[in-house]
Amino acid sequence: MLLEKVCPVCNGLSAVNLLCERCKGTMEDMGRVQDYTDPYACQQEINDGINYCLHLFKCKQCNSAKRIKISKISL
Ligand SMILES: [Zn+2]
Ligand SMILES: [Zn+2]
Repeated sequence: MLLEKVCPVCNGLSAVNLLCERCKGTMEDMGRVQDYTDPYACQQEINDGINYCLHLFKCKQCNSAKRIKISKISL
């Protein structure tokens, strides 16, 4: 039987609390990077890993964005 790994953040199982490196403000989860089209990003870079889900976080205060790898978990 094949166990499917899922991203706990995408599935609402857990939330990530991230502080902005620039202003220490709250970074907000903007969803998976795949859901966004970034003309500057290389295609390979935005591919989902088997063990990771790539999320885009954006600071509410200074608008700086960051990509975070979320470890997928087996249900
Ligand atoms: Zn995810
Ligand atoms: Zn910030």
